[in-house]
Amino acid sequence: MVWGLLIFFLIFFPAAGQASLRSEGKIPNYHLQVSFDIQGSRITGMAAIQVQKEQELKIQRGDLQILEVSVSGNRIDVPPRRGVLTIRLAPGETAEVRYTATFKPLQGSGSIGGTGGSGIPSQVIDERGISLGGAWYPRVDGLCNYHLTVDLPEGYEAVSEAEKIEIGRKEGQATFSFFFPHPLENLTLIAGHRFRVSRDRQDEVEILTYFFPEDENLAPVYIQAAKRYLRLYERLLGVYPYKRFSIVENFLPTGYSMPTYTLLGQGVVRLPFILETALGHEILHQWFGNLVYVDSGKGNWAEGLTTYLADHFYEEEKGKGFEYRKGALIDYQSYVTQKDEIPLKHFRGRNNRSSQAIGYGKALMVFHMLKNLVGEKTFFESLRLFTAEHRFQPATWRDLQGAFERTSGRDLEWFFRQWVNEKGLAEFDLGEVKVRPLDGKFEVEFEARQKGRVYSFELPVSFYSNLGRARYRFPVEKENTKVRVLLEHYPRRLVLDEDYDLARTLSDGEFPPVVARFLNEEKILLIPPLSGEEVYPKAIDHFQKMGARIERAGQVKDEELKANSAVILDKKNPLAERLYGRIEAEGGFSLTIKENPWNPKKVIAILHAESSEELIAAFPKIRHYGKYSFVSFHQGENVEKRAEPAARGIVKELAKEPTVLDVSLIKSLPDVIRQVADKKIIYVGETHDRYSHHLLQLEIIQALHGMGRKVAIGMEMFQRPFQKALDDYLSGRIDERAFLKNSEYFKRWNFDYNLYRPILQLARGEKIPVAALNIRREITDKVGKAGLDSLSEEEKKLIPSQMDFSDRAYRERLEKIFREHPSFEAKNFDFFHQAQILWDETMAESIDRFLKENPDSQMIVLAGSGHLVHGSGIPQRSARRNGFDYAIILNDGEPEKGIAHLIVYPGTVPFEGTPRLMVSLAEEKGQVVIQGFSHGSVSEKAGMQKGDIILSLDGTSVESVEEVRIELLFKKKGDRVKVSALRKDSSGTGQTLEFEISLH
Ligand SMILES: [Zn+2]
Repeated sequence: MVWGLLIFFLIFFPAAGQASLRSEGKIPNYHLQVSFDIQGSRITGMAAIQVQKEQELKIQRGDLQILEVSVSGNRIDVPPRRGVLTIRLAPGETAEVRYTATFKPLQGSGSIGGTGGSGIPSQVIDERGISLGGAWYPRVDGLCNYHLTVDLPEGYEAVSEAEKIEIGRKEGQATFSFFFPHPLENLTLIAGHRFRVSRDRQDEVEILTYFFPEDENLAPVYIQAAKRYLRLYERLLGVYPYKRFSIVENFLPTGYSMPTYTLLGQGVVRLPFILETALGHEILHQWFGNLVYVDSGKGNWAEGLTTYLADHFYEEEKGKGFEYRKGALIDYQSYVTQKDEIPLKHFRGRNNRSSQAIGYGKALMVFHMLKNLVGEKTFFESLRLFTAEHRFQPATWRDLQGAFERTSGRDLEWFFRQWVNEKGLAEFDLGEVKVRPLDGKFEVEFEARQKGRVYSFELPVSFYSNLGRARYRFPVEKENTKVRVLLEHYPRRLVLDEDYDLARTLSDGEFPPVVARFLNEEKILLIPPLSGEEVYPKAIDHFQKMGARIERAGQVKDEELKANSAVILDKKNPLAERLYGRIEAEGGFSLTIKENPWNPKKVIAILHAESSEELIAAFPKIRHYGKYSFVSFHQGENVEKRAEPAARGIVKELAKEPTVLDVSLIKSLPDVIRQVADKKIIYVGETHDRYSHHLLQLEIIQALHGMGRKVAIGMEMFQRPFQKALDDYLSGRIDERAFLKNSEYFKRWNFDYNLYRPILQLARGEKIPVAALNIRREITDKVGKAGLDSLSEEEKKLIPSQMDFSDRAYRERLEKIFREHPSFEAKNFDFFHQAQILWDETMAESIDRFLKENPDSQMIVLAGSGHLVHGSGIPQRSARRNGFDYAIILNDGEPEKGIAHLIVYPGTVPFEGTPRLMVSLAEEKGQVVIQGFSHGSVSEKAGMQKGDIILSLDGTSVESVEEVRIELLFKKKGDRVKVSALRKDSSGTGQTLEFEISLH
């Protein structure tokens, strides 16, 4: 029942509207006497309002039935105008209003997913008890000195704002008289026949609990906690202003603080963490809100200040203040839209999540910045001065400014102007960072750049070196501020505002994908499931009402996804699988928020329900889990919640951190083989043209095969449609020449076949299966040029249905490669990214298929190291499909944490590649034509010329470049080969010539 807290913690006075609270000394005395017909939910009362000066009383009629109005004993007729009765009184005159009203509980409407809005009735009279706030009596605008008298049946207890309560009992009736010697804007009354009252005392203050019998056992811990909070705030702010403090349990789900008491709903009282958070918050309101009033027409400062010194303060004590502040900034960025952004001075009370993010969240950041600016000592001195000066009076942001200015002796006009009077948050980034040695130290220079409005603040910067951290604060006042600092140690990393000391916009890396981020999105795409739509009508209806646009999986373009946030219904939705692979979401209902892979400013939500009952039970609750990336429910009860990690502060990496290896741990190759032998999948990375890498791959295969393992080899170098060529070759049905032709090796891979030849010859000789892992190259080429959207329906059938684009670190590595190779055919990074993932996912899927079809095999996968590092390319994508245990062995990899399980440095091994004719060849109409010669070409020396058509090598005729290359595979360097060629003269007639070439 956390929701009760999240939504309804609100104190009464902000609802008061724009009433002028200016206290001008002579305020009315208001005597109110009420009695009840509880079965009829009826209150009957008499209000006697005596003014001290000539005054026009404005009485809010509300839902009251006014029975009679009289002035000084004479009945008068006052027709209400727009619900207001206006009565003009001379000094000392008394207006008497007799009234009655019925307050029945409303039927709960249980709205789904909306934003804020309590829907909780302020007034209820029934068998459960009496809970009256707001317009339950003839309220007059402004402050009054109240005296309340209540008649109740015997056995009832009653609470109202009071320093002292007198109870008279006779004839089965109890009369409660409440005395409160300070002016109030509102009066409240709580009563019930089930209250058990516990009492205690601290110094001059009586502390009471009014709990229901079933919760009476909680009274001692509540009283202890109340004592602790009263001590804390008396130390920080000055003495508690009243003689009485009560904690009152309510049958309605409320969380209110009124002078001298707090009213907590039963569901709330039972939550163990209330003692750690909300109770302290409500007690602090005894100072901020109840002792010093809010002049709400001039901005409600009390919620931000109370949240800062209660909820936030308790987290700060635990060393987690930075997380709390970051949470406030996440809320701001998620909920506050340009349309509803207001300055703090316009905040009166929370009526939705946006106003809450401003009035509570931004405000607490402002008090935090103020504390950092003037220092902790001055901060609390200023608050004590402010509290003392405005006891039982309304106060404004300007009054706070005044108190802080006098205590600190500083002009704070600029501070309050930029943070309170104007809307928005600061936003900044930094330009290039330069580090150079200077006088035995390191000079760091960078530029802090503000976007949008220019703020003045102190920018906290942490410099991390190999030897520790140095922290600085730099004044920033202009759009671009140059910063220079001399550091003892060379900085590896620089972090701006890592403790969230500034009210600022978060950078992409700091902003995790959380529920809050899609709740307030206006432009949202809704992707219904392909089947099982009967589970989701409630959700579809809700999102459509919010203005969502329905798009179908399989039809929605990546381009559209890039421009929007989206909700995908059902975890088996093909679009969810196409973007994130398999969605791990347990529970009857779950909501998973992921970063939009095409746009980090947008999110994608995957909403899954097992049945419409599960959906209906959980859906209305999701808005209370705004700060989580994943939530799951079982029959409406939350069973799991977690947030995805995000960066702390704006992080700039300047230089890699060093990696240290203990060389005493160096292993031999047999050690390595022993270590990985039992893994289901062993990935061995390569740089394609490095012979030593292929030799190591061969040795690992030989070793495992030699141990009697049932091994298979998976190869990136062959594409799936050519599996048959591999099978035919391995089974002996075709020879090597036919294999290379049928597999189109030279068209599709093109590295010297002699690099891989020993591995394939071993496989053929030992009957080791080889799986072609890769996707047809034409498809990745097309995706690289124009994206997945460009594939035809036929081509789409060839790509894996599951693809996961959510690995941010991998994307960043790919982006770096992309930026460093401007010559790439893919001009668009999204397309490049898509092509890479398509490649990886296809290989992972091929591995998975093979191992599922051959369950007793283990596979050694040969692939470029780029597909293996950190497990990002193939390994994790295969594991997602099958969960098999794997090991990654890299050849010559950069030693870096988490990059692989093992790195082997195989050294260099002499490699005699396939001999060459040293010519460049082209194919024209089934003829192989010489295009040119490399420097010192053996063919040129033998007399061949540009334009010659090669007809045969050692008598074997050749009609394609591929055939030339295959023939050369069977020669050695230095072999003399007879080449016959056709040379045409200018007239077009040709002659056949014979050359003898010594291969290079
Ligand atoms: Zn509050």
